[in-house]
Amino acid sequence: MTGSNGPRAKPIPPPPLAEPLPQLADTIQPHGVLLVLDPAADTILQVSENSQTHLGVAAQPLVGAPLSTLMSPEQGEALRRVAPAIADRPLPLPLTVTTPAGPLPCDGFLHRTATALILELEPTIATAPADFLSVHGLVRQTLDRIQQADSSLALLQSVVAAIQDLTGYDRVLICQFDAQGAGEVVAEAKGAGVSSFLGQRFPATDIPPAIRESYAQGKLRAIPQIQAEPVPLFPRLHPPTGHPLDLSRAVLRSSAPCSVAYYTNMGVASALVLSLCQARTLWGVVSCHHLTPKRLFYEIRAACEFIAQMAASELANQLRQEDLQQRAKLSALRSELIASITQAHNLMDALIQPEERLLTLVAASGAAICLGHELTLIGTTPTADQVQALIEWADRHITEPLFHTPCLSQTYPEAEAFKATASGLLLLRISRVQHYLILWFRPEVIQSIAWAGNPEAGVQVDAQGQIQLGPRTSFALWRETVYATALPWQPFEISGAIDLRNAIVGIVLNKADELARLNQELQHSNRELTAFAYAAAHDLKEPLRGIYNYANILMEDYAAILDEDGLDYLAEIQAFSQRMETLINALLRVAQLRQTQLKRSLTDLNHLLAEAVAIVRASRPDIPFELRLPRSLPQIQCDAPLLNEVFRNLISNAIKYHDRPDRWVEVGYRDPDQGSRDAEAATPTWVFYVQDNGIGIQAEHLSEVFKLFKRLHPQERYGDGAGVGLAIVNQIIERHGGRIWVESTPGQGSTFFFTLADA
Ligand code: ADP
Repeated sequence: MTGSNGPRAKPIPPPPLAEPLPQLADTIQPHGVLLVLDPAADTILQVSENSQTHLGVAAQPLVGAPLSTLMSPEQGEALRRVAPAIADRPLPLPLTVTTPAGPLPCDGFLHRTATALILELEPTIATAPADFLSVHGLVRQTLDRIQQADSSLALLQSVVAAIQDLTGYDRVLICQFDAQGAGEVVAEAKGAGVSSFLGQRFPATDIPPAIRESYAQGKLRAIPQIQAEPVPLFPRLHPPTGHPLDLSRAVLRSSAPCSVAYYTNMGVASALVLSLCQARTLWGVVSCHHLTPKRLFYEIRAACEFIAQMAASELANQLRQEDLQQRAKLSALRSELIASITQAHNLMDALIQPEERLLTLVAASGAAICLGHELTLIGTTPTADQVQALIEWADRHITEPLFHTPCLSQTYPEAEAFKATASGLLLLRISRVQHYLILWFRPEVIQSIAWAGNPEAGVQVDAQGQIQLGPRTSFALWRETVYATALPWQPFEISGAIDLRNAIVGIVLNKADELARLNQELQHSNRELTAFAYAAAHDLKEPLRGIYNYANILMEDYAAILDEDGLDYLAEIQAFSQRMETLINALLRVAQLRQTQLKRSLTDLNHLLAEAVAIVRASRPDIPFELRLPRSLPQIQCDAPLLNEVFRNLISNAIKYHDRPDRWVEVGYRDPDQGSRDAEAATPTWVFYVQDNGIGIQAEHLSEVFKLFKRLHPQERYGDGAGVGLAIVNQIIERHGGRIWVESTPGQGSTFFFTLADA
């Protein structure tokens, strides 16, 4: 999709390069001479075409000539002796070459390719002994500083400072490469008035793979004059193979055209590059720039190479240590977080107080915590709606407990809209059942890095109209490769997130286990209590009957000898014992209900209600009332006698708690799909109601009325209630898996609702 208004669904791939990536040059720099010898170091096979300039002999006559043409028999013999031991890494050898103008002292370098020995000669630059002594002192001092550095940055800074002191280059910087090969300038020493590159990033494409590979192999690369004319070999092709010679290890190899363009773009005239390798991979480079041509004598280059090697190995230690410290810090942070989760009553509070902790844990800039229906955003995040949509997508598509990507829009194109805040996603699913998730976000990398200067400026186009690879051009390419991409999640950050998940799952499960245990205990003590109540009530009845019977006998047989007060007391005893029997019976009924199994059957509630109403009318002939039935009742699966008891209790209350003559009771129901409070239940749930126009109930008593022995009125008002009826009703409804509640307006009436699932 390329419409100017619509968002792009995918990152645009980098455009094809204008020319194939450059190969390494098969020419040399003009400040030295290169001789290709046969493997035994007897005969010269090829010579660089500048031999006349340095050695005073043209290339052509040298080809095929013995090496002894150029050096004393002793030196020739010495070379032949060492030849079999020479490997592919240039070995420095001080040599004196015989020239028509007399002996020429040279810094020689000898190395082997598959088919030949290569001898490179650089005429020696004279060195004052005092200089050499100060070089030695400086190297020792630098090594001390490197070893004492208390951070990798301090170490790198001491390296650039020392190398600048040693070499006098205008700018010495250290560029560190990331896993993708992009570089960042992390240390720099420079002369006054020289522009700074510190903090800048260079795309991976700035250094083509072939050059990167040669950096990884060689330790040092010197280019005294970037613009110098390259010198070819004579003959151009290597005689044993008929192909250009492999000069990848040659000290004098000239720069590839792209490197020349690269340095020229930066205004650099001379460069020295030292590799910093760790475990055979290129960690970074020390890059020395000079604004005018500059050649260093060999000892100084060797000293720099030595410092770089020492620095690379000390750096490895330092970085390992810093990595350990960082991990220890994160692990302490994680333990602290887990401790707060264990102690907290509220998981959300434990996670986000303080917010910073959760973000630091995985170096994120924002996070979303979803606990069931609760969503909390911290730090820099997409909007709540965007996060919600992302979670819904993850619920459908991500089955693993952990998912991470540095480029979310590749898997979830909608993320394009919020790439600035959340190109990187680390998603942790703690519980699918409870819908617990944590999402961490990282911004698009391009938003988070420093790039000084206008990256679009300075695009190089050559005479043929082709784009040349240079830092600015390649920045544009790089920007496409990191489009909508965040810094990758590190393995230890991911494992830290997994640890956090395991801890939370453990804690949440533990809490659930504890709850289950408590529940079991509760059920157990509930059963015991019921059994106790049943037994106690049952055993109480017998003595009670005795009291009542003896009171009766007294009343019947001894009434004559009792005075009026005595008779009254006797009547009270009878009334109290009757009342006590009512209470005991109620208690027995409640205890019994808890123990009985429901016997469900398909029941026509119209018949059931008719029976219940008939019983109420028969037991309270003194209270006439109108039954209102707006529509006939359904048939449902229930325990019919128990439901009959429910209706009996509710209807007798409805007519009992009344102070007007025109009593009516309405019985009805709401359809299962409307008004059901248990809408998510699998089976349809009915909501029945029993409404009256009685005295009503005060709001504060609405839930009280279902408690055992709870009465709102003195016994003498509204009849002889024991405060048991509603407790029994509640028990029956609960046994059916339903709930009961009441709504009421005092003075106007009450409506008792209860739900019944049509199981
Ligand atoms: P009781 O056996 O005393 O009627 P219940 O458990 O049935 O006991 O009721 C508890 C209390 O709730 C009653 O004492 C009464 O005060 C109040 N109550 C119950 N039903 C109604 C109603 N329909 N209208 C007003 N108050 C009621």
